[in-house]
Amino acid sequence: MTVTRTTCPYCGVGCGVIARTAADGSVSVAGDPAHPANFGRLCAKGSALAETLGLDDRLLHPVIAGQRATWDEALDLVAERFRSAVAEHGPDSVAFYVSGQLLTEDYYLANKLMKGFIGSANIDTNSRLCMASAVAGHKRAFGTDTVPGTYEDLEIADLVVLTGSNLAWCHPVLHQRLMAAKAERPELTIVVVDPRRTATADAADLHLAIQPGSDVALFSGLLAHLDRTGAVDRAFVAEHTDGFEDALAAARAIGLAGAVAATGLTEREISGFYDLFARTSRTVTVFSQGINQAADGTDRVNAVINCHLATGRIGRPGASPFSITGQPNAMGGREVGGLANQLAAHGALDDEEDRARVQAFWGVSHLPKKPGLKAVDLFTAMRDGRIKALLVMATNPADSLPDADGVVEALKACPFVVVADVTAETDTAAHADVLLPAAAWGEKNGTVTNSERRISRQRAFLEPPGEARPDGWILSEIGRRMGYPGFDESSPAAVFREHAVLSHRLNADRRDFDLGGLATLSDAAYDGLEPVQWPVRADGSAPGGRLMGDGRSYRAGGRLRFVAPATAQARTPSGRFVLNTGRIRDQWHTMTRTSKTPRLMGHIAEPFCQIHPADALSLGIEPACLVTVSSPYGTVVVRAQVTDGVLPGNVFVPMHWTDRLTARGRVDSVVAPLVDPISGQPALKGGRCDVARFPATVFGFAVTIHKPAREGLDYFALAPAKKGFRLEFAAVSGAVDAEALARRILGMSSSEPLIAVADASTGSHRFAAVSHGRLMGAVWIGPEPVAVSRAFAAEQLGVGGPDLLLAGLLAGRPGAGRADGGAVVCSCFDVGVKTIEEAVRAGTCLSVDEIGRHLKAGSNCGSCRPEIKRILDTTKNCLQTV
Ligand code: SF4
Repeated sequence: MTVTRTTCPYCGVGCGVIARTAADGSVSVAGDPAHPANFGRLCAKGSALAETLGLDDRLLHPVIAGQRATWDEALDLVAERFRSAVAEHGPDSVAFYVSGQLLTEDYYLANKLMKGFIGSANIDTNSRLCMASAVAGHKRAFGTDTVPGTYEDLEIADLVVLTGSNLAWCHPVLHQRLMAAKAERPELTIVVVDPRRTATADAADLHLAIQPGSDVALFSGLLAHLDRTGAVDRAFVAEHTDGFEDALAAARAIGLAGAVAATGLTEREISGFYDLFARTSRTVTVFSQGINQAADGTDRVNAVINCHLATGRIGRPGASPFSITGQPNAMGGREVGGLANQLAAHGALDDEEDRARVQAFWGVSHLPKKPGLKAVDLFTAMRDGRIKALLVMATNPADSLPDADGVVEALKACPFVVVADVTAETDTAAHADVLLPAAAWGEKNGTVTNSERRISRQRAFLEPPGEARPDGWILSEIGRRMGYPGFDESSPAAVFREHAVLSHRLNADRRDFDLGGLATLSDAAYDGLEPVQWPVRADGSAPGGRLMGDGRSYRAGGRLRFVAPATAQARTPSGRFVLNTGRIRDQWHTMTRTSKTPRLMGHIAEPFCQIHPADALSLGIEPACLVTVSSPYGTVVVRAQVTDGVLPGNVFVPMHWTDRLTARGRVDSVVAPLVDPISGQPALKGGRCDVARFPATVFGFAVTIHKPAREGLDYFALAPAKKGFRLEFAAVSGAVDAEALARRILGMSSSEPLIAVADASTGSHRFAAVSHGRLMGAVWIGPEPVAVSRAFAAEQLGVGGPDLLLAGLLAGRPGAGRADGGAVVCSCFDVGVKTIEEAVRAGTCLSVDEIGRHLKAGSNCGSCRPEIKRILDTTKNCLQTV
């Protein structure tokens, strides 16, 4: 057994993970009790990491034009095509689109290669979609891209405001830390500002369901209120800040009345929140994608920060604005200048001094002077023919960028597309001329930086399979083959030292991002590096921790700055509904990793659209029917989820599904390519769309041992089950031969035996394929969404003998006295909603903790505790009503 301390590759919490590799090669994971981000906790995604290590869909060797190639052939071709594009069309004719999943060392090399040696700033990253507005807001207010607070601040605050953050699902371990603090100190008040009633809102003391896009008005009204009620820290403002009067004038112009009108909240609700904020000095405001992913995202960030500057609540224990990033290494990408408008080490492309220092350090003479193309503009330029060669690393823009169908067109239009990834099974890789097999999590070495500026090591504990290689090796080889010096040493330790030295040269006297104290780490010390927060100065001063608590910034004159938000322009296309997109609890990005595990897919197995009951009624949309969500850019077909958790006029669709798992589930194909004018961050929330009932005439569900056929289906959603697959499907056709359709899905010829039951009264059909006494597949087809216990049906796959409940299976439920857990709520222990409801009804579990003790649900990672509480409350209410 070998034990490796590493870091989770998913969200920006950056949890420490202990990976244990047994002699037979099997791997298990657990939270690292010594890691200061999680102290041993992991969420459902982190807990399931070992289940995602299979090689079934891995890219194992380079591919050129669909044919297997050697590394030399592939890398020589990539270098030659990039070199010739630069020679013929100039440096700005090539581009890199990289990822917050990259390790810092790899990110550093990508940025160095493009900006330092190719001579273009056309390198952007999917971090643009995540936190570019936070970066821009920080720089406007602080002069640097600095998160002033720490995770501990959430635990010791008296008030935590979560705005635009579904922390319970998107950063579950930090949410669990917050909830544990609240359990110890119930007086800690949690306020959630979100148009949607999320799991985070369920667990809060106060939920302010504001109208989408009214964030600036809410926080401007708060600033005016702080001034009016004498809550402004006048001494702090006078001594340490600029711009207060202008920001206040803009805030007063909005005032309480403007905030009420914009947010749709009552005056009482808003005043209650404002008073709470004003009187609570230990306040942390956490903001995330609901703030950043908007056409006025940067203004929203500054509207939040303004309230903290006005009260001096910055970088103090339990008092700070706090941006939490979505990705595992979005922060590391910011450190190396992975965005098209940044230089390395927090430098600025338009700063002569920064450029001179970086040029001298890299030994180059032609650093670009102007920013490169940001993500949306980059793919527009590609569609226009301005980009001749593109390298995509560790990301899937064909699904994740707005106007995703336009992005596919751009990839098709680009003469030379290289994709380096762990799998070829992505919607982006389908358009690659060259595929380069990359090492995955657990197979590569480097560092990542989490949302509280903590640098942690990701360590390898597996050999890369086949010919897969680390991203840093791939980038160094491309640099070398293009004839550039500076790429001879690609070991992560050496690259980290180079990065640390540059951060010191650039920032020792100018900024807080200084890793000078790590610049001389030996290889062994780098291998053993403990999680550490920057800055890490060479002289040992100011080690990590909170920043700017003394009111000093790195702006000229050392003052912090208020920013008066500009009025956001309504620029979205027309459509009846506001479209909100976002994450769900157990999936990550475009699901290339998390969809490999049945227990994560068991939570939510198909894409959905949350719609308010009043809107659903007006459109003839019933629960579980299928709907189209469309805009001039594209259309998705998803399952309707009718809920008053969204406001009337709003819908929510998750961001994760792709063409791999659905017929038409790529929601970013519906989103308009609008961006914040300052940060360039796309407005992935707050666009407009229309919703209509999808005219399916045939609905069905199948469980199959072998991957089911999906051809000809107008809707499908495929998910793995423990012993096979489950498939939701629908078709738009007048008449259908149900048996022929079932055989097609199951891959059976007309002569193979198939048990068939038809119900003429309902027009429904059920089929079961049994081979050698074991269930190989079952299909339910009907004119309405079929009522089948999905969990029970999937459990029956592969079952034979007396355990095969064929009669119950064909009826779609196990029958009296047989367990039917229902849809998974707790992924860690596979506990379903019906099991929890039954325990509540039986009176054995009347609290979340009791459910944990009796059923184990919610007792491991805790991600599902808000859902358990909702089920508990609903079931208790039903019992009382009865
Ligand atoms: S909260 Fe979950 S997904 Fe995020 S880093 Fe921790 S274990 Fe990974």
